[in-house]
Amino acid sequence: MMRQYELVERVKRYNPAANEALLNRAYVYAMRAHGTQKRASGDPFFAHPLEVAAILTDLRLDDATIVAAVLHDTVEDTAATLDEIRELFSPEIGALVDGLTKLKRLDLVSKQAAQGENFRKLLLAVAADVRVLLVKLADRLHNMRTLGHMPAEKRARIAQETLDIYAPLAGRMGMQELRDELEDLSLRNLKPDVYETITQRLTALSQKSERMVETIEQDLTAKLAAQGIQASVSGRLKKPFSIWSKMERKSVAFEQLSDIFGFRVVVDTLPECYAALGVVHTAWPMVPGRYKDYISTPKQNDYRSIHTTVIGPRSQRVELQIRTQAMDEIAEYGIAAHAHYKEAGGRQEGGMHPRLATESGAYQWLRRTIELLAEGDSPEEFLEHTKLEL
Ligand code: GDP
Repeated sequence: MMRQYELVERVKRYNPAANEALLNRAYVYAMRAHGTQKRASGDPFFAHPLEVAAILTDLRLDDATIVAAVLHDTVEDTAATLDEIRELFSPEIGALVDGLTKLKRLDLVSKQAAQGENFRKLLLAVAADVRVLLVKLADRLHNMRTLGHMPAEKRARIAQETLDIYAPLAGRMGMQELRDELEDLSLRNLKPDVYETITQRLTALSQKSERMVETIEQDLTAKLAAQGIQASVSGRLKKPFSIWSKMERKSVAFEQLSDIFGFRVVVDTLPECYAALGVVHTAWPMVPGRYKDYISTPKQNDYRSIHTTVIGPRSQRVELQIRTQAMDEIAEYGIAAHAHYKEAGGRQEGGMHPRLATESGAYQWLRRTIELLAEGDSPEEFLEHTKLEL
């Protein structure tokens, strides 16, 4: 279990101005409140809110969000009260914990049929402060990581809900890594056989293709350098869920999938993105229909990048993403990036800045979605509509 000083250290690493006393108080308060409670795994319950907080420190979130994560189950599951939390911490933290408590009550009644209604309430609870959703997503991620101890039926229901609601929401918030992990964990719980087979094949392939990834990385780096472009190139095999959904979409077997490698090219400036694209398309033929320019037309979640697929060395199809360092930050952190970066790309003193967050495309999508809800679509219809949109 994470120690008190470890939590503080994790936050201080990206936010030296963090309120240490506040973090310490939250740690002690939640530890006492949860006392000897246990999780289904038999682990001390308190380990869970700490893990949720740790996930959020990876996203470099502000003190209030980290504290709310540590406290997120206290009101629902212990003798702690909201009034006490408001007084001991702050009205702001109280409001975050209140939102999370309401969402937790939703989970308890959640059934397949209630999903639409749940989703509607989820968005309404989040409307007040988008940080509630960030904690909720981290909470769901940790629960998905530790799903193994649940009865099979419950596991399937939670995994399906994650796939239907939480993973797409993470995508909408621009948090790709979170989304990928939620999807992989859902597949693993919904279709263990499929997940196992794909994972084994990917492992076998990665042993065989390690040299290949390295060769392409070096080759591409050298070709770009020859044109005066300094780039960081990294390649990897795709994730089981994305392999599986492609097999489903195209009704093909694993062996028939051609593009299982993804490469990322990160350059310094915007013009260099297009220059790098020129180098790539000059070196290898592009696959028609796979070129997308999300720099010229960013996604609604603010994602910016050039996508292309080429027939690379040894006739291997290679999918490429080309973007700047600043775009890469948004691709990695999504809506959370607005909490720590100024528009110019400079380091902020930590803390979620509501003005910056409200300017993000992801935030505006959320507001629009909530407005749609307020106009009174039926929850089921709304969920369908949102799925299509997502
Ligand atoms: P497209 O068909 O080229 O628009 O893109 P896909 O939907 O097939 O996605 C290809 C890859 O691009 C994904 O596996 C991700 O790695 C990346 N990608 C696509 N959309 C996003 C996004 O919104 N955020 C981030 N960070 N990555 C994305």
